[in-house]
Amino acid sequence: MASRNILVINCGSSSIKFALINEDHGAATLQGLAERLGSPEAELRWQQGDAKDSLMIPDADHRAALAQLLPRVQQAAGGALHGIGHRVVHGGEQFTSACRIDAAVLEAIGSAAVLAPLHNPANLQGIEAALAVFPDLPQVAVFDTAFHQSLPEHAFRYALPESLYREQGIRRYGFHGTSHRYVSQRAAEMAGLAYDDSCWLVAHLGNGCSTCAVINGQSRDTSMGLTPLEGLVMGTRSGDVDPNLHGHLARTLGWDLPRIDRLLNHESGLKGLSGLSNDMRSLEQAREQGHAGATLAIEVFCYRLAKSLAAMACALPRLDGLLFTGGIGENSALVRSKTVAHLQLLNLKLDPAANARCVRGVSGTIQAEGHPRILVVPTNEERQIALDTLALLPN
Ligand code: ADP
Repeated sequence: MASRNILVINCGSSSIKFALINEDHGAATLQGLAERLGSPEAELRWQQGDAKDSLMIPDADHRAALAQLLPRVQQAAGGALHGIGHRVVHGGEQFTSACRIDAAVLEAIGSAAVLAPLHNPANLQGIEAALAVFPDLPQVAVFDTAFHQSLPEHAFRYALPESLYREQGIRRYGFHGTSHRYVSQRAAEMAGLAYDDSCWLVAHLGNGCSTCAVINGQSRDTSMGLTPLEGLVMGTRSGDVDPNLHGHLARTLGWDLPRIDRLLNHESGLKGLSGLSNDMRSLEQAREQGHAGATLAIEVFCYRLAKSLAAMACALPRLDGLLFTGGIGENSALVRSKTVAHLQLLNLKLDPAANARCVRGVSGTIQAEGHPRILVVPTNEERQIALDTLALLPN
C-alpha cells in the first residue's frame, strides 16, 4: 500500500497551524501558518520543500484563511489525501482518546465550547470548513484533554460539593495533552529511557501555557483545569487568581460575567501585566530597553511557572528530567534561566552556554553538570495528531 497523507489542522484563537504529514516521513510535506487572524495584518505563510511563499489576507477569519489554504493542500498531496486530523481543545469527560468525526461528535465538541470559549469554536470552524471541502474523507478529532484522563481523582477533583462534579462535570480536565505526550515520549528517547518507566515535569509555554507531571507515559497532574484559564500566566490569560475576584469586581465595579470573562481571557496575562504585548519576543526586547511593565511581566511569568513545576513535583516518585517546549519554552533562554533559578530546592541548575544554544528548533540537554536533566524538546503536535488519525483509518 502507498504511504498515506494526513492533513493536520490546528486552529487557535488567532492562528491556524497546518501540516501535510506523510506517514513515512518525519518532516511535513507542506506546512504553514495563518496568523494574526481577524486583524489587518492577517497573513498566510507556507513552505513546501525549500520553497516558501506567503499571502496577505487582510481581516481574514479562520474560514477565509482555510478557503485560501485548502486548494494548496490538494495540490501538494497530489490528490492522495487520506484523512484529516483536527486538534480539538476540549473533549470534556466524554473523549478519552481520539475519535472519528460524525454528527454526534460535532455536537459534543460544540457543547464543550462553554468550557473553552477561546478554542472550541475555532476548532469547529476548521472542522466545518474541511468537511465542506472534503466531504468524503475520514476526519478525526484529537483532543487536548484526552491525555489527562489518567489523572487520579485527588488531582482532578475541586474542593466543591460532589453534585457539581457528578451532575455538571465540574472537575479539572487539563489541556495541551498532545504536546505533553509527544515531548515526554521524545524526551525518553533522547535520554535512552523506556517511556513506560520514566518520570517528567513538562512546561509547555506557547500563547497558552501549562505544566504536567508524566509518570510512565501517563499524565498524573497538570496545571490547567476545567478550562484553559487555570494555572500559569499566559499570553492574554491571567491563570490562577483568587476565586473571589469575580464577586469582588461585580460588587466594586458593577462588572457582569462577560466583562469579567473578557478581562481574564483576553486582557490579562503577559499583556495585562506589561501593558504592552502578549508576545514574549516583544517583551524581551522591551525589557532590554528598560520597560518596567515588560520586566515585571517576565518576572511574574517565570516565578509562577517555577511555583507550578514545584507543585507538580509532588506527583512524581522521582525526576528523570524537566522539559521545556512551546514557542517560549523552545526559544526563550531568558525564561528558562529565570525559571530554573527559582527551583534550587529541586537541585535544578542550567548550563548557560547549552541554554543559549537550544533555540529555534535545536533540542538538547541544558543542565549544568551533575544536576538533574533539563531538556529543550521542540513539540510536534501535528505529527502526533497525524499518527493518532492514521491509527483510526481503515487499513
Ligand atoms: P501557540 O500556543 O499559539 O501555538 P507558540 O507555541 O507558537 O504559540 O508560542 C508563541 C509564543 O512563543 C509567543 O509568546 C512568542 O513571543 C514566543 N516566542 C517565539 N519565538 C520566540 C523567541 N525567539 N524568543 C522568545 N519568545 C518567543
